[in-house]
Amino acid sequence: MSNDTIAAISTALGQSAISIVRMSGEDVFSIIGNVFKGKDLATVDSHTIHYGKLIDGAQIVDEVLISVFRAPRTFTTEDMLEINCHGGPYVAKKILELLLTHGARLAEKGEFTERAFLNGRIDLTQAESIMDIVEARNDYSLALANKGLDGKIYTLVKDLRQRLLDIIANIEVNIDYPEYEDVEELTDEILIPKIEDLMDKIGDVLKKASVGKVLKDGIKTVIIGRPNVGKSSVLNALLREDKAIVTEIRGTTRDIVEGEINIGGIILNLIDTAGIRDSDDLIENIGIEKAKNLIKEAELILYVLNNNEPLSEEDTKLLDMTKHKKRIVIINKIDLESKIGRTFENSVHISALNRTNIEKLEERIETMFLEGDIDLAGETYLSNARHIAKMKQVRRNLEDALASAQDHLPVDMVEIDLKTAWDALGEIIGDTKDAALLDELFSKFCLGK
Ligand code: GDP
Repeated sequence: MSNDTIAAISTALGQSAISIVRMSGEDVFSIIGNVFKGKDLATVDSHTIHYGKLIDGAQIVDEVLISVFRAPRTFTTEDMLEINCHGGPYVAKKILELLLTHGARLAEKGEFTERAFLNGRIDLTQAESIMDIVEARNDYSLALANKGLDGKIYTLVKDLRQRLLDIIANIEVNIDYPEYEDVEELTDEILIPKIEDLMDKIGDVLKKASVGKVLKDGIKTVIIGRPNVGKSSVLNALLREDKAIVTEIRGTTRDIVEGEINIGGIILNLIDTAGIRDSDDLIENIGIEKAKNLIKEAELILYVLNNNEPLSEEDTKLLDMTKHKKRIVIINKIDLESKIGRTFENSVHISALNRTNIEKLEERIETMFLEGDIDLAGETYLSNARHIAKMKQVRRNLEDALASAQDHLPVDMVEIDLKTAWDALGEIIGDTKDAALLDELFSKFCLGK
């Protein structure tokens, strides 16, 4: 693998207190030697910081602090320098140019992390966790990302892979050395429970993953209901501040309110709250197709009804359209006389105006999406969409293997699916020869990461 020397600005470009320019590779010391006025960094201890000036010929470029990290105990496992300069986009770019002129190459997106991965310091799940830390939006997603960086997902996948490998190895020995009596002959009666056992384990991982995904990404939520039932008021009550404009005149609320509500650490990602309250007839206004798409896209429907009004035909239509979704029927305005005339499954009675029972609504959302207690310290939750998709593929492969074993097909037919599952688990942790997958993943990183 090439370890030519790469450099990039690792901090966001904008005016700030400091910026960091990073460099990694075998020539970092000779390159910095040409442009640094201060100690000879080639001779200093690893993990030390040094003051000096960067110069371009006779010209001072900036006063800097340089952190020195010597291979192999560095992020990339190569020699690395981190230059702390003044936080202006111009000066940071100037320093980068200086390094490039003296022999460094501009790093690709994510190339520092890619080197850490290719040099075996971290696995792919840890590399992805770094990105998840950068993108974390609440305590939960940060905790999940830190567990990933700590290698918990790697360990989980490695254990599953080992169990699978034990079965595959047993089959191989049976096929290659049928006369070898010390190794248990894997009859279907023995093989089937082993596969089922592994499937149970993966089922458990996927169940926890649905919680992990909610904790990390939040819940795509749509608030639906006829005009004036109190949708904006519900939104305000959940937000606990008046971001949405509440109006008393039917159909005049035209502001678009989209965004996030953070309830007890879970994020509700509200989609299209404007389209659903602009007119007397929701379906006519936003179009049946759009309504359907919105509903389809949503992971949670908050259906708001006015306790003080009888159910309308449109309500019946919309309630029918949303009955297969995760839905909470919010009966609002319980401070007024009840004229609604029926009860609903999974409903919560509130008064958005008086903020009555808002906590009940929040609790209901939490219990719908987070089964059981969350044990971030003890359990490992997959939350990365790529990992979850691969794990689902593994489950399908195992289902196929199980079906073949149950049909008493030759054992090498079963083995094909087990091997595919093994490869898929490998792709999660980066034990794969698929260069395109790696390129795509690392290209999602920021420059200088
Ligand atoms: P939207 O059109 O569905 O978004 O409804 P709004 O949130 O704009 O509310 C319409 C009207 O109902 C406003 O006058 C609110 O003050 C009123 N309203 C909202 N919630 C309640 C409630 O719980 N009780 C009562 N009495 N009025 C409410």
